[in-house]
Amino acid sequence: MNEKKKKNKNTHEEQEPIKLFLSDWLYNAGLLGLLKILLQGDPLGEQNLVRIKGNYIEFNREVFKGFTDKFFEAAFELHGKFDSIKNYLHELRKRLESISEQEEHTKLAKELKVENDEKKISGILAERIGKRWKGVVYESFEKIKKTDYTTLESIKILLSNLIEILNVNREVFVEKEVKTFLSNILGQRSFLNRLVSKEQKKTFYKDFEHPLLNSENELDETNCLHCGSYHSKKNTIFNTGLVKYQGLNQDSINFVWNFNPNLPICEFCEIIYFCHWAGFTKGFYDKTFLFINDDNSVENLWRNNQLLQTVLVGDKERNILIEYFYQLLEREENITSDFVLQNISIIEVNLEKEVMPKIYSLQISRKKASFIKNNHQKLQQLAKKNYQVKDVSQNLLEEFLNGFLNDRISFSFINKITKYYMLHKDSTKSNLYKAYYSVYDIQSLLILIKDYLEKIKNKELNMNTNTIWHIYHLGNELKTELTNRKAENNINGIAFRLLNSVRANDVSTFLNVILRLYMSYEKEVPKVLVNTLSGTEQFQVIGHSYINGLLGEQFKSEKNQ
Ligand SMILES: [Zn+2]
Repeated sequence: MNEKKKKNKNTHEEQEPIKLFLSDWLYNAGLLGLLKILLQGDPLGEQNLVRIKGNYIEFNREVFKGFTDKFFEAAFELHGKFDSIKNYLHELRKRLESISEQEEHTKLAKELKVENDEKKISGILAERIGKRWKGVVYESFEKIKKTDYTTLESIKILLSNLIEILNVNREVFVEKEVKTFLSNILGQRSFLNRLVSKEQKKTFYKDFEHPLLNSENELDETNCLHCGSYHSKKNTIFNTGLVKYQGLNQDSINFVWNFNPNLPICEFCEIIYFCHWAGFTKGFYDKTFLFINDDNSVENLWRNNQLLQTVLVGDKERNILIEYFYQLLEREENITSDFVLQNISIIEVNLEKEVMPKIYSLQISRKKASFIKNNHQKLQQLAKKNYQVKDVSQNLLEEFLNGFLNDRISFSFINKITKYYMLHKDSTKSNLYKAYYSVYDIQSLLILIKDYLEKIKNKELNMNTNTIWHIYHLGNELKTELTNRKAENNINGIAFRLLNSVRANDVSTFLNVILRLYMSYEKEVPKVLVNTLSGTEQFQVIGHSYINGLLGEQFKSEKNQ
């Protein structure tokens, strides 16, 4: 035992690849982060540095060769400040280069809210550039004096000079920016320590890359608290921050570890935690970062977070969770396991404030996960169905999922989309209401909501899908009857009256309308419609299905649809 204590020169371990398993969300973010840093943008399937094995990864120490540069580049890129400055300068220069027409001048002056005068425009531009970025590395920006720039030509030269400064000193920016960025997240460890004012990379190399690569970390006899597989690294001090917001403060560490601030953790778990930021994707707002946890497999974890990246490029007004699920359904041809759905959660971290990360409630129940899994084909069909009221458009799947995940879905949704469908067909209203879906889609959603009430909310409706389609056909028969009697103009009016009575839960009006129609055609009211009296939910399903039949096409066989 004593040999192990001093140096990690255990030949047994050297031959064995290092295995690290998925665990809690923070650890998983770290594992993903480590992978992202190591692979530098390469696809997971096209690399041979790390072997991906179900719920763990396997690698040899050699992967840490060149880790310092990779680590810094990844942080530099995620932080993104440098690139955004460069882009800004480039764009502005490009714009000034193309300014020749008076019109362009006027436009620029208007944007800057100054008189259309070259001297004034130049002055304000110089002032803006100078004030925009602050900090030690930006002294050449801070030195800019408004009065030194009186022509657009001089601004162009200034921009070129600044771009040159950024390019030449990139390495300085890398070290400083990464330090600023990561000390917000990781605290004071290693190169992030306040006292390390230069050569941050060197410090990182000495503290992490070299000992990891050469197996030179001093080890304790205790096993790693986290993985349990490797000896803990000597003097790994938890409170200097593996992760600032992890939620374990000094007090709770003292409580757990007998007032010993040294956390027994191995060198691998330590680097995993130290990389967790790289598992995040930049969110909508500057300081918000998101991560999707999925502890089923490393491959899923990777794929889900790749998908998140594409979602974040999309419409920023939308609810990220619903949008994510929507994308997942639109993409996945076959959702094979409800377990997969159940374990997805989205974690949002605000790096500006030292607060606990927000974990969105996508920890859906097993019941809900299997509901989505069992109905994924139906749901997928809704992915491209939309409606538009005035200028606002809404997607049916998204709206359904939103209600479903938050337990707010009800038959009023059916009522609404039926109404929009009818208004869309009405030539006097169709400029305000567009419905890009069919009655079949409404019927399909109606059955989904019925199933939801039965399977998730445990309500007993005693109605199977065949009965619901049977009622649809009854409505459709009435439509045929009206058409045959050249009364098709009345269909919309009747449907509206029925729709209003269903919305108001007014069974007697509903039955009255139907009774009169059947009587006028000397027909008997179908018995199944009397079931409307047996309960609110039953009435909603029967009422809507009947209305759908009245509005929709004739479907021959709809068994088990
Ligand atoms: Zn460990």
